[in-house]
Amino acid sequence: MLERIETRDAEIGGGLIVRRALPSRRRRTVGAWCFLDHAGPMEFGRGGGMGVGPHPHIGLQTFTWMIEGAVMHRDSLGNEQLITPGQVNLMTAGGGIAHAEDSDSAGGGCLHAVQLWIALPDGERHRAPAFRNYPHLPLVELGGFGVRVLAGSALGQTSPAEVYSPLVGLDLAAAGPAAASLPLTASFEHAALVLSGAASIEDEKVTPGALLYLGSARERLAVSCEAAARLMLIGGAPFGEEILLWWNFVARDAQEMRQAARDWNAGRRFGAVHGSPSPRLIAPEVTGLHLRPSRS
Ligand code: MN
Repeated sequence: MLERIETRDAEIGGGLIVRRALPSRRRRTVGAWCFLDHAGPMEFGRGGGMGVGPHPHIGLQTFTWMIEGAVMHRDSLGNEQLITPGQVNLMTAGGGIAHAEDSDSAGGGCLHAVQLWIALPDGERHRAPAFRNYPHLPLVELGGFGVRVLAGSALGQTSPAEVYSPLVGLDLAAAGPAAASLPLTASFEHAALVLSGAASIEDEKVTPGALLYLGSARERLAVSCEAAARLMLIGGAPFGEEILLWWNFVARDAQEMRQAARDWNAGRRFGAVHGSPSPRLIAPEVTGLHLRPSRS
């Protein structure tokens, strides 16, 4: 089963337009991965780039994979971390954290990044918040692709990124023609997203702007490209819990959402983020329209 899900344009802070692949109407989660924004590749002038002011999260991990450019992360635990190419930032919101993400836009620059969210299972979602930067991730050569193991395990390598459900995240980059048969975990469901160039995935031609959902029970994946290309593969054990995703929160019911929004807007619970040049975001009104279960 191959299911092509077109991404949609979404605006994040600073007027930045990204391609949003998850959640989509047809597919809300791939394993515990419940959100996927692809930003760039782009060049921006003075004052451009990413400028997402202080905002809260609950019930999830934010997972940022930086390909080009640099973004400063600041959070309510006091962390201040510049993320640069080849690195992952992983922030565990647990019961509540706030952060801001800003490009250093004084002189303009470039940006190519993917930000995903990982839903925390019920037994982990109230845990203490945490943040870590992972500057070194395993890299394996396979058929002309450099395969970077961002999360989980693949090709005998395991990412140091601390996650709370069985999942995988890989970056595959080729500088020219490449062809690989990538072993997969058959009990996982998977999806692939081309980040630059064009690739063939099981004979399906894919370019940026579409997430290819691959289903589960697959032991290998045929991936190839005729010229330089880059793609991301995500997967995991199907997430067996009904979740609600609204604004920057993952929760289980509307009451939790309303409480988190009220707490943030009243300046409670999440702490303060210092040093961001971007304005603090205000939680919008929680409306029933946005509250949809993870699987319909
Ligand atoms: Mn965020």
